[in-house]
Amino acid sequence: VTETVAGLTRVDAGGALVTPGLVDPHTHVVYGGNRAAEMKLKQQGVPYLDILAGGGGILSTVRATRAASDEELFAAAEVRLLEMARYGTTTVEIKSGYGLSTAEELRILRVIAELDARLPISIVGTFMGAHAVPAEFRGDADAYAETVVCEMIPAVARQGIARFCDVFCERGVFTVEQSRRILEAASDHGLARKIHADEIAVSGDEESGAGLAAEVGATSADHLRATSDQGLKELAANGVSPVLLPATSFCLGDQRYARARVMIDEYDLPVALATDDNPGTSPTESLQLVMALATLNLKMSPEEILAGITVNAARAISRERDAGTLELGKRGDLVIWRAYDLDMLSYRLGVNQASMVVAAGVIIAN
Ligand SMILES: [Zn+2]
Repeated sequence: VTETVAGLTRVDAGGALVTPGLVDPHTHVVYGGNRAAEMKLKQQGVPYLDILAGGGGILSTVRATRAASDEELFAAAEVRLLEMARYGTTTVEIKSGYGLSTAEELRILRVIAELDARLPISIVGTFMGAHAVPAEFRGDADAYAETVVCEMIPAVARQGIARFCDVFCERGVFTVEQSRRILEAASDHGLARKIHADEIAVSGDEESGAGLAAEVGATSADHLRATSDQGLKELAANGVSPVLLPATSFCLGDQRYARARVMIDEYDLPVALATDDNPGTSPTESLQLVMALATLNLKMSPEEILAGITVNAARAISRERDAGTLELGKRGDLVIWRAYDLDMLSYRLGVNQASMVVAAGVIIAN
């Protein structure tokens, strides 16, 4: 029930659960095309890194993204972001990374800035030129990493849209050494650091993506499906936020989930959760799906899950000053749920339980 009192909207939530607006700290929502056709390969059991090596995966999205106009990229991302808002998300991190050339990466970041300016939700931009090695550099990841370091990072810093620089540190993508060089250059140019770490395998023989995140003082290390206890200990000792992406594990279909219980129980890590919304390995806008998967597969409690998509998620993108809790001085972001307690919220599966979403004091979904 809503009524207008002295020019302000008063909402009676009728005793329903109210939470802070949700924060999705890891997405790739600006891209062209889709990868529905890859589902057949996945059903046949072709591994993701094989699809990538065959010119599919990220590289097919790179072709479709380069072919799309600015308006097309904006319109497709807008649909996804408004869907997120309907599911309760009011703050979103978006990575570039489907351009893989200086001009195309800068163009995607411009689209991200435009989305932030024109949509009611709050957006944090991340430069991820090191998302894959583009076809032009096939077989020469070193030369491409050099381009990221010498050409892209300085241009991205001058453009001023991106707050973070992220790297896909993974066997068959970028090595720990290449990732280190890229993240050090990012730091020199004033960008905070993030890493896609240990998603499929621990990256090196002795070194891991998590270890590198700790070493370079990254704000977050994301995925962490294959991270050892040593890697988790280093994350904790260096204040790196773990961001877990259970919808990606679900889509990869290998039953391998990050060890959230160990992270929380043994290392007291502030576990954050995200959709990883992307066309290949997690085509979903719903943090509510992520909540259900975190319940079933990460064995997190309803309270831990709520923290993971609010306060811990805000911390993972350095937005703790204006998002993640309901407090004076923060943006007025909140969700009224079709639920009366947290247990109900993380138990239901595949339906939208948000009944009203408010961003910066304005009702954006009802
Ligand atoms: Zn990702």
